[in-house]
Amino acid sequence: MEEHFFDCPKCWETISMLFDPSLKNSQYFEDCEVCCQPLEIIYQRDAEGSVFIEVLQ
Ligand SMILES: [Zn+2]
Repeated sequence: MEEHFFDCPKCWETISMLFDPSLKNSQYFEDCEVCCQPLEIIYQRDAEGSVFIEVLQ
């Protein structure tokens, strides 16, 4: 698993989440570890292996 950091759009705290490196694209809901509100996470990996994470409210 690889860890990525980003800002929660609800509480603005920096949080980290673990992602399976074999994933290419996924979209799911996960609770913020600080404010416990559900966040919609969009995870994408391009052909070079760069990871792009978008968090929707
Ligand atoms: Zn939060």
